[in-house]
Amino acid sequence: MNKETIEFQSETRKLLDIVIHSLYTERDVFLRELISNAADALEKMRHESILKNDIFDKDAPLDINISVDEKAHTITIVDTGLGMTKDELIANLGTIAHSGSKTFLTELSEQDQKDTNLIGQFGVGFYAAFMVAKLVRVQSRSYQLDDKGHEWVSDGTGSYTVEECPGLHRGTKLILELNDDSYDYAKEETLKRIIKQYSSFVSFPINVGGEKINTVQALWAKGKQEIKDEEYNEFYKFVGAAYDEPLSHLHFSADVPLSIKALLFIPQTNMENMGMGRMDPGVSLYCQKILIDQHSKTILPEWLRFLKGVIDSEDIPLNISRQALQDNALVAKINKVVTTRFLKHLAELAKSDAEKYTEFWKTFGIFLKEGATSDFTHRDAIAKLLRFESSASEPGKLISLTEYVERMPESQKDIYYINGPSREAIEAGPYLEAFKKQNLEIIYTLEPIDDFVFSHLGEYDGKKLLSADRADLDLPEDKEDKKEAEDSTEKLDKNIAASLTKWIKETLGDKVKEVAESKRLVDSPAIIVNPDGFMTSSMERVMRAGNPDGGLPMGGKNLEINTGHQLIRDLADLRVKNEDFAKTVIEQIHDNAMIQAGLMVDPRTMVERNYRILAQAVKPLTDK
Ligand code: ADP
Ligand code: MG
Repeated sequence: MNKETIEFQSETRKLLDIVIHSLYTERDVFLRELISNAADALEKMRHESILKNDIFDKDAPLDINISVDEKAHTITIVDTGLGMTKDELIANLGTIAHSGSKTFLTELSEQDQKDTNLIGQFGVGFYAAFMVAKLVRVQSRSYQLDDKGHEWVSDGTGSYTVEECPGLHRGTKLILELNDDSYDYAKEETLKRIIKQYSSFVSFPINVGGEKINTVQALWAKGKQEIKDEEYNEFYKFVGAAYDEPLSHLHFSADVPLSIKALLFIPQTNMENMGMGRMDPGVSLYCQKILIDQHSKTILPEWLRFLKGVIDSEDIPLNISRQALQDNALVAKINKVVTTRFLKHLAELAKSDAEKYTEFWKTFGIFLKEGATSDFTHRDAIAKLLRFESSASEPGKLISLTEYVERMPESQKDIYYINGPSREAIEAGPYLEAFKKQNLEIIYTLEPIDDFVFSHLGEYDGKKLLSADRADLDLPEDKEDKKEAEDSTEKLDKNIAASLTKWIKETLGDKVKEVAESKRLVDSPAIIVNPDGFMTSSMERVMRAGNPDGGLPMGGKNLEINTGHQLIRDLADLRVKNEDFAKTVIEQIHDNAMIQAGLMVDPRTMVERNYRILAQAVKPLTDK
């Protein structure tokens, strides 16, 4: 019956040749492509049936039915979409008019021709069928009443045939005769697995052997008001492969500047804390409910890898490769919009449910800190979300930088922080003395990463973030205190103090960069401070730990001495009477201050020296 043989357009032939003669890594995607075409056709049909009445097979249910014949090695995919006329079959399947495959060809010619991995990652639309089939039959009957139905057949080489095919229902039936190494696809189990992975959220029922496979709804596409909490929880379990409930979720959609629908979940546990190693990202990118990039590395910043969920944008072409995703401007825009929106969600949560936010912070705060040090774009928004203990907070209670700033007295210009292993250790150490005395609030940074975060931020709300172990720390002046200090007779005389600091520097040599009289100490005899404003002792400790064989020169710390402290005052005398022992004492004072700074000292020298000092102390008590 008037069978026509038609040559493929030359571009198409080139594409088919690549598809057929290459080795593929992700052949599974052929099914995604064919199902997405079927879903498109169904969507168009739904639309047409609203507008028109004259429709062939008007009452046919809109669905996709897939069956296999394991013996004959065939797959049959039937949809009740709008179908194709003869002209449409020729135009749509015989030429590459549509954008996806065209882009593919351009990409491919720009790349190494032999980079065949690209095909699997890319998807080449309808022609993907030839990745697994040696012969493809397309039987289609348009919804238009006057169509007769036609069959299009090709083995994917030079040409195809079209002939009339009476007796068809509305829609398109694809029959794939699988090639020898693709027989596995003629198994229902295989197809079900692929559909679950790529096509779970297609809006029309996909039945395999009569069983509906896509049972989960694309919840993100529905309105918030229509969704119950249980539905969110169920959906989370599905997309997050989770067994528990999420800590919080964010469901939003935007139309400008891009069409975006997103449903993001914060889990309850941080798997990286559970010793599971670095997490893979948990948010997948969809285009109109069809998976483009599972657990996408590009759609959100790396530091948001703890999130689970879905981002759907119809602006992203379905046929985009992963390589192309990486430098796609649209993807970058979506990334920015969604990240900004998520940070806003956190800020709202912190306001509306402080307890829940604290829970979030304790579990996932580390990721925000990672963001603060690595993501310039969102740095300011992240800074507002940081939480710390401080000298003004109750133990275990957290404050924000905003709260700190709100409490600052007018005379205070900067924000102060100090690192230590615990609240107790910090409060017992020398760095807090001046703050306590002047009643200034100081933030406790209890994690090693914190000082890096503050160092990267530099300032907050126009106020410098300063570590209390800086040499140039200039606390707001306390007038009364100054007067008191001037009146005080307890400090060493200026000249004696100057000569003492000079002698200490000579004694300690390279171990210190400078020795100075301290303005900040109250109860401690000495303190180590950092002349380098960028590096704190805690940062130095971390960097040394990562580099145990040295390579990093000892930064050169400053030693400040408290000339009002009895031990230091006595040292000035001892220096004259017994210089050797005075040297031993100042070395020990230096080591003690280093330990309080959390820095390493050589334990052998320290212990040996300590015994010498003890012997000296005990001796006069036993001499008769
Ligand atoms: P794309 O889907 O990106 O347009 P494809 O190569 O997947 O590219 O499909 C080419 C064209 O063939 C589609 O645009 C559509 O017009 C037509 N087509 C493919 N499959 C079907 C189908 N099942 N029903 C109706 N039309 C189809
Ligand atoms: Mg397609």
